[in-house]
Amino acid sequence: MDTLESAFERVTVTDENEDQIVTTTTYHKAKGSLSAAMSISGLGSSTTAANRMKLPLQKLQQPNTSKPLSTTITKVTLPSQAAQQQRSSDDTSSHRRTESLYIQPTAPRQFHLGMFEVGKPLGKGKFGRVYLAKERSSGFICALKVLHKHEIQQGKVEKQVRREIEIQSNLAHPNILRLYGHFHDAKRIFLILEFAGKGELYKHLRREQRFPEWKAAQYIAQMAAALKYLHKKHVMHRDIKPENILVGIHGEIKISDFGWSVHAPNNRRATMCGTLDYLPPEMLKGGSKDNFYNEKVDLWSLGVLTYEFLVGEAPFEDTQIMTQRKIARGEYTVPNFVSSEARDLIKRLLVLDPEKRIPLEDVERHPWIIKHCVKGERAYQRSSGRSSDDREEN
Ligand code: AMP
Repeated sequence: MDTLESAFERVTVTDENEDQIVTTTTYHKAKGSLSAAMSISGLGSSTTAANRMKLPLQKLQQPNTSKPLSTTITKVTLPSQAAQQQRSSDDTSSHRRTESLYIQPTAPRQFHLGMFEVGKPLGKGKFGRVYLAKERSSGFICALKVLHKHEIQQGKVEKQVRREIEIQSNLAHPNILRLYGHFHDAKRIFLILEFAGKGELYKHLRREQRFPEWKAAQYIAQMAAALKYLHKKHVMHRDIKPENILVGIHGEIKISDFGWSVHAPNNRRATMCGTLDYLPPEMLKGGSKDNFYNEKVDLWSLGVLTYEFLVGEAPFEDTQIMTQRKIARGEYTVPNFVSSEARDLIKRLLVLDPEKRIPLEDVERHPWIIKHCVKGERAYQRSSGRSSDDREEN
């Protein structure tokens, strides 16, 4: 327990890409490299179920490595209830303004469970449960994720938990689930998360079987925006799939789950080994010394996601061996009901050579995206659900 306790000391970091200093709570840098901690060598056989199920986010580069981590204790202020109500989720600047974290130079106040009114359970992951919660003084609604320390230790994912909280605390984008702060007691770690009012995208997809093209395009546009933001911050997600995406109250998507909790509930993919469906060919090769990969892995996964949104199943779905084989060869077929524009985007994303995949800027400008995404419009703004040109198509 000692390691975990000491890891939860509070430190201050600055966010390199924000125009203001964002002060938050995080952990000492993990000693080992994240890639080592999350090696996926021997994917087919020797990795643990946990590793196979989650290939969590990886930081490509450690920003501010020259800056010493201060041990100043600071307060993280949750956005006020008023700010929460006012929020326009597609306006990044106002989003930042209303949700900025205010530095309190004196009298640091740490979070504790008593500050929250805990409501209904929202779901269950491998390492704990998630509850709807309200911060008592501000009335701010959030999701409280409760992780049990002994389970984290047993699962040998302490390092992962630490590093991923460190990374997620520094992300602020309308399509990425916010992590506002965290605290812990003797047995548990509590993560204060943004509440995603419409739950799991995976469930929406299963319910609808497949999404109409307008909806898929709008989701993919939001994914591209979120990935662009992540990659700019030298973060690659590495685990893009519908199970790791939540839906906000306005129907906007929120990339969640940066890898610390292993999904195993029954409504997920059947096999305990998790899915290889989203793995890019360069990651299938295992962790040999000369097997480097970069943020382009997320582009491949975006292609798989586009396909699954439109078809209802992933392009390489098969037995484990066959899936690996198909991925390595880039072998898939697109059903006829998929439009030629969508087909074209999938083809440009599912390219074996990572360097030849369509860049995110071009995804956002792709004719399929342009056709279905009026600038600044989001899926939730379509009250009728479909625009006129979609009707004839789907
Ligand atoms: P996790 O442990 O992250 O897999 O969470 C378990 C389940 O809780 C998820 O599958 C969601 O259904 C639900 N959940 C997790 N986080 C949130 C959130 N921020 N807002 C709403 N529901 C959530």
